Amino acid sequence: MTFSNVRREIAGISISELANQFGTPLYVYDAATILARVEELRQFDAIRFAQKACSNISILKLLRKAGVVVDAVSAGEIHRALKAGFTTTGEPAPVQYCADIFDRQALQMVVDLNIPVNCGSPDMIDQLGEVAPGRNITLRINPGFGHGHSQKTNTGGEQSKHGIWHEDLADCMQRAERHGLKITGLHMHIGSGTDFEHLAQVCKAMENTALKVGSSIQTISAGGGLPTPYRSSDNRIDIDCYFKLWDEVRQRLQETFQHPVSLEIEPGRYLSAEAGFLISEIRAIKTMGSNTFYLLDAGFNNLARPILYGAYHPMSIMPRDGNENRPLQEVIVGGPLCESGDIFTQEEGGFVCRRQLPAAQIGDYLIIECAGAYGSVMGSNYNSKPLAGEVLIRDGKASLIRRTQTLDEILAQEVLI
Ligand SMILES: *Cc1c(COP(=O)(O)O)cnc(C)c1O
Repeated sequence: MTFSNVRREIAGISISELANQFGTPLYVYDAATILARVEELRQFDAIRFAQKACSNISILKLLRKAGVVVDAVSAGEIHRALKAGFTTTGEPAPVQYCADIFDRQALQMVVDLNIPVNCGSPDMIDQLGEVAPGRNITLRINPGFGHGHSQKTNTGGEQSKHGIWHEDLADCMQRAERHGLKITGLHMHIGSGTDFEHLAQVCKAMENTALKVGSSIQTISAGGGLPTPYRSSDNRIDIDCYFKLWDEVRQRLQETFQHPVSLEIEPGRYLSAEAGFLISEIRAIKTMGSNTFYLLDAGFNNLARPILYGAYHPMSIMPRDGNENRPLQEVIVGGPLCESGDIFTQEEGGFVCRRQLPAAQIGDYLIIECAGAYGSVMGSNYNSKPLAGEVLIRDGKASLIRRTQTLDEILAQEVLI
């Protein structure tokens, strides 16, 4: 994967045109990139988008039209899916609720709308069974081991809060039986990334678990966690190899159960990360001793991944004067917030680092790339900053899919007494 540090356009539309028309900070998504990623996953029987990664209803609609189904982790995400035109019946289930708890609103909603549930805690089985006995459910299993270097992104093992502990399976089967719930599917979201040895372990755990549950199993889900390149040195995952490992498990289960078993995948980042760009304007350039800072009108209120995880995002500059032959320099890139952690160039642990970028001038645009997953959706009103606008580019045309919040909208729920 190669990333350049100068960029003039996104999907054929000039960055200054986008910034002039819609203002900055601004999220821009390229529909063609999202759809291309969908095509790469067609081997799976169902592609279930983990909408928490990028849940604008126009993005959800784009995916729905491409035959993708969705995952919802809250009542709000079910609501979004319905607004985007997903229905509540069909195979594969157009919307599935997958979480480790039901808050009261979510429980009411899955019961009223008959939304299938992937249970991530034993208590969910009882809570659903008491009010909606006789349903089909799926179980999210924590196989007892995880993957990943960050405590905040690890989704398996003893330290993780996610899923049903593998040793509690028998207890959960009893709970389900008590309420007449039928366990029709299993799910493991571990995020092995490109580590195929580890993935093989997950597949084995899935197979063993499915054999314990027995022939009521009709679907298995590989979860999400497919990696996407964020650096020039990152390679693309070998989807065929990933599919093959899971498909082998599915085939063996089909033979044992003597009926079809459907294989789902549940990507978030994979479908939307590379399609998204955060356009910001450089509003101050200053030196602090030996350091040069570029300060943007976008901060961690717009993109929290760097401050949360020390995540790396490629960055590029759009020189407003058109001169692309600017010398490179080492800089620190930060935002407008009154908080010293508001730095986009930081590593895990909060260590500020420098990035080589073209020499910039006030008014140049700085584009934070691969920002389409866990970007806009994690936006906040910290420092009373409005949530940024979002634009979707399709067939060479840029459409506003979320306007920038107004200052009054920030206050809309507040009560002056
Ligand atoms: C977050 C999440 C995903 C998507 O993860 P990505 O790393 O974005 O692919 C999939 N499944 C579940 C249950 C999740 O919580």
